[in-house]
Order: sequence, then C-alpha cells, then structure tokens
Amino acid sequence: MAWDFETEPEFEEQLAWMRGFVREQIYPLETLELSYDQVRQVIKPLQDEVKARGLWASHLPEELGGGGFGQVKLGLMHEILGETPYGPVVFGNNAPDSGNAELLAIGMEMGGNPEHRERWLNPLLAGEMRSGFSMTEPHTAGSDPTLLQTRAVLDGEEWVIDGRKWYTTNGSVADFFIVMAVTNPDVHPYQGSSMIVVPVDTPGVTVLRDVGSMDDPTVVYGKFGNHAEILYDQVRVPKGNLVGVEGAGFQLAQARLGPGRIHHCMRWLGQSRRAFEMMCERAVSRYTHKSVLAEKQTVQNWIADSMAEMHAARLMTLQAAWKMDQVGASAARVEIAMIKYYGAQVLYNVIDRSLQVHGSLGYSSDMPLEAMYRAARAARIYDGPDEVHRQTVARSALKGYEAHEIPTDHIPTRTEAAKRQFADALEMLAAAEA
Ligand SMILES: Cc1cc2nc3c(=O)[nH]c(=O)nc-3n(C[C@H](O)[C@H](O)[C@H](O)COP(=O)(O)OP(=O)(O)OC[C@H]3O[C@@H](n4cnc5c(N)ncnc54)[C@H](O)[C@@H]3O)c2cc1C
Repeated sequence: MAWDFETEPEFEEQLAWMRGFVREQIYPLETLELSYDQVRQVIKPLQDEVKARGLWASHLPEELGGGGFGQVKLGLMHEILGETPYGPVVFGNNAPDSGNAELLAIGMEMGGNPEHRERWLNPLLAGEMRSGFSMTEPHTAGSDPTLLQTRAVLDGEEWVIDGRKWYTTNGSVADFFIVMAVTNPDVHPYQGSSMIVVPVDTPGVTVLRDVGSMDDPTVVYGKFGNHAEILYDQVRVPKGNLVGVEGAGFQLAQARLGPGRIHHCMRWLGQSRRAFEMMCERAVSRYTHKSVLAEKQTVQNWIADSMAEMHAARLMTLQAAWKMDQVGASAARVEIAMIKYYGAQVLYNVIDRSLQVHGSLGYSSDMPLEAMYRAARAARIYDGPDEVHRQTVARSALKGYEAHEIPTDHIPTRTEAAKRQFADALEMLAAAEA
C-alpha cells in the first residue's frame, strides 16, 4: 500500500543544500537597496551555483532544459525558495517567467509554432529575457475572464490587438508579454480566447505606469516585481506569435494556473515558517508582566495554532501536488482551489500573529514582518480571489446532493423506519419483557 510522507534521500540531500544556501547566500541580499540591474549582477554567481547543482529552472520537463521534477518535488523546493523574495529568481523559476515558460512549452506541445523555443523560451529559461502575463483588465472583472474585452483580429499574416491591461507583473521590466485576447467573439469565450506573444517594443504597446499598491504605495517605475498598466493600441504582431492554437486561451490558462497555485502555496509556507520562527524567538526573548511572552497562554495558543495550520496547509498542498502528478491539473482542480484560499489565510494568520507578538517592533520596518504582511494580503486576490475558489470547492461538494423535503437524518422519520426494519426483533423483545 502506497501512503508515504517521506522524501527520497537523494532529493532530501538537495533540499538540505538549498536550505543552507538560501539562508546563508540569499537572505542577506534582502537587506541591501539594489536596483534591478545591480541585483542581476550580484545574483549571477549564485545562479551559476544553482545551475551546477542541477536545480536551475526545474519547473520544466527535461527535454526543455528543466529538471522534470514533477509537482511534489517542485513544491518542496518552492517551500524553501519562498522564504525570501530573491529565492525564486536565483533558482530561475520566479513568477511570471516560470509560468510563461510553461505556457510557451505547452503551446508548442499543442502544435503551436516551434520557433517559440529559440525566440522566447530558451532566453527566458536562461534568464536573459523577462516576461509579463497580461490577462487582467482594469475595466472588467478579473475573477471572470469570460468578460475580457481585449480583442485580437487576424489581418492577413498579422494579429491586430486592442485592449488595456493592468497588474501585468514585471510589465515595466519585461521584454515581451503573453497577452490573453478574444480572437473569436462568435463562440463562447472558453473556445474563443487565445494567447499571443507581444514584444514590448512593438509599435502600439505603451506601458502607461506601474500601479502603486499596498505592497509598494510609492512605487518607482521600472522596479522588478512592479505591476504595470499597459495599453495595446492597434498592436500588430506576426500570426506565428500565437501560443498554441487559436481558441486555446482558457485551456492554456488552466494549465498555467494549476502548477502556479501549488508553487504559490508552497512559497507561502516558506514565508509562514519565517514569520513563525521570528514569533518563537521573540516569545522566548521578550519579558513583560512577570514572565517572557512564551509563558502567556495567548501566545502559546498562537504558536500552537500557527503550527497546526501550517502543517495542515502543507499536507493539503503536497497532496494536491501529488494528485496533479498522478492525474493532471484538471482532475486536481478542487484540491488546488482548496489550498489557494486555505494557504492564503494561513499565511496571513501566521504573519499577523508574529507581528502582534513583536508589538511596535513588528509594525516597524526594522523587521521584515510589516512588508511580509502587506505582501500577504494580495495572496487572497491574485490567481483568483478566495471567493471564486471557495465557490469551486462548494459547487463540487454540492454536486453529490439532491433536495430532500425531510432531511435524511431526521430522527423521528428514521425512528419510524427503524421500527419497521426491526419489527420482528422488537416484537420479540416486547414479548420477552411482558
Ligand atoms: C499582486 C498582484 C499581482 C497580479 N499579477 C497579475 C499578472 O501578472 N497578470 C494578470 O493578468 N493579472 C495579475 N493580477 C490580477 C489578478 O489576477 C486579479 O486581481 C484577480 O483575478 C481578481 O480580479 P479583479 O482584481 O478584477 O477583481 P474582481 O473580479 O473585480 O473581483 C473583486 C472581488 O469580487 C469578489 N468576487 C469575485 N467573484 C466572486 C464570486 N463568484 N463570488 C463571490 N465574490 C466574488 C471577490 O471578493 C473579489 O476580490 C495580479 C493581482 C495582484 C493583486
């Protein structure tokens, strides 16, 4: 019987190396004020070390230059990389580039243009290009992409794209975007939407601004990790820039978002773990009202609840990853939806408790907690808001039920039925008692 919670020893060795490497080599970078170009220079030797270790861009299959690890191993890696914002970049699998590389790879598998490999995929994997995923629009609900208004019309050998997008992460530092647009308005959007590669220097593309956010209210244009608003005005790109086939936009989005959500959830666990460690260290250090905080029951409850929630989220996420490896993203849809909102809440809870235990120090920018707290809030929105994922889970759960005027477990009704079922035995018992 296969029911195994262990990591195979060779891979555990890689994970142990990663833990040390991330803490010793990557954590310190967080404290330095570096521009995007400076970061690239500083992390180059670290990236070389990761490549030498065979852990670079591990999200892709081997034939595309990745590790072909599958979602469970990737999940375990992301748990470590998520501890620090630079972790995924140093390992060549940061969002949105990792997801976009997957899209390009799946697109080619679907029968799309094989030239995408040389033109876009390889440079992306090598870290020589940056990309953005341009789906959400400011004037339509991102939670319901069937409402997308961006249009792409085939004119001879070119797609002509018109639309406005926002929250395109890394849009202001990207070399190209993968744009989701309606290519056939006459059919249901599930069949009529497509993804198209648009180089940033194509005439008609205007990166209007980086959107200030809770994470970065005083945003400086062109910083890695910003979210851009982009105008696509009569943008013409070759027909061959289509990712996969025409009408496959939703299918591609689903294939991209499934693994992406597992990685997000595991990275959140890495963040939660860090916040948790800060909370425990502070709890045993801070003395007030005749004892250290660790001796106050409320703080003990926070520590115990955080541990239990992180443990639950971890098992749920790894099980979803395992199911995805076994039967694919589509069959693991409900599990993935469940971890998305559950994991986001756990992340938020643990950081919030840790911040509270630190008091004014936690609220200050002398600790990373306030920044982690602000970033964590977005987890409940991006890649689908909580409510949409809850709806997926609830709908799936409700599928197996039909309406009953009298509840199945109604005790008086069941008593009558049981009396009929055991009538003979009950009669015998009554006779014996008489
Ligand atoms: C940090 C960050 C990074 C992002 N990066 C990208 C990116 O790189 N590329 C990209 O294309 N997009 C990106 N997004 C956009 C993100 O995917 C959307 O914000 C998300 O899909 C929600 O869409 P919306 O913001 O338009 O909210 P809306 O669709 O307007 O929804 C607003 C609220 O309505 C409620 N709601 C929605 N549907 C339901 C329902 N069925 N039942 C009950 N309540 C509901 C929810 O509370 C939801 O938060 C990013 C967003 C953030 C915050």
